[in-house]
Amino acid sequence: MDAARWVQVGDGVWVRRYRELDLSLGVVIGERWCLVVDTGADEVQGAEFAAAVRELTPLPWTVVITHAHFDHAFGTAAFEGAAVWGHARCRIALRETAEAQRAEWAGRYRSEGRPELAERLERARVIMPDAWPGGNLDLGGRLVRLVAPGPGHTDHDLVVQVPDAGVVFAGDLVEQGAPPAFGDAYPAAWPLALDAVLGLEPVTVVPGHGEPVDADFVRTQREEIALVARLCVDVRAGLIPVEAAVERSPYPEEFTREALARV
Ligand SMILES: [Zn+2]
Repeated sequence: MDAARWVQVGDGVWVRRYRELDLSLGVVIGERWCLVVDTGADEVQGAEFAAAVRELTPLPWTVVITHAHFDHAFGTAAFEGAAVWGHARCRIALRETAEAQRAEWAGRYRSEGRPELAERLERARVIMPDAWPGGNLDLGGRLVRLVAPGPGHTDHDLVVQVPDAGVVFAGDLVEQGAPPAFGDAYPAAWPLALDAVLGLEPVTVVPGHGEPVDADFVRTQREEIALVARLCVDVRAGLIPVEAAVERSPYPEEFTREALARV
């Protein structure tokens, strides 16, 4: 059920890839601490991830949550004793939306004939992250940077830069294998957030879903999202009909319509 594998993207920098939702979770290992990037969709997946991290390192862990969507944040209880960090608005978003996310996705899993996933989601305890005060996080012999690039996939995306490895964990600001999700997004601002990610000059960008990618992939996705945002603005201004935006969009209709609802 939790079919998963490790992908190494740098010295002591790993991505745990899950078949479910094509999810990508991360870990960065220093000399004294390890940093866990996102925790999975429920405590069962969180526990699988925690056990897998323990196969890599016995070091104490700190957790950072890239954003408040359940598949990134509902596994945190499995990381006992960890400090948990997120964007200041991540905590607010979790408080405001966790139960609605739980109900929506439990319903979706049940309608798909997957009650076990629904039950796991319903049982998951939600751990609130503290607001990251800014600055670097010292893992011992290795500094990582937590960067808030501005609104994009949500209003509280936080990315994790590992400068010595050229790696950036981008959360759902970047998606590989599926179009980016616009449900809580700020389409017009999203390209600027990706400019900030690209400004970190990453060699490898780890998306929230899908395989690790390079900066060129992110540049292409940035242009696609910018096009979607322009189409949405044109629709709102009455310059083109919705159908024209749907037709010219690089993404499937449901994604474009979600973006439209956010402009
Ligand atoms: Zn998300």
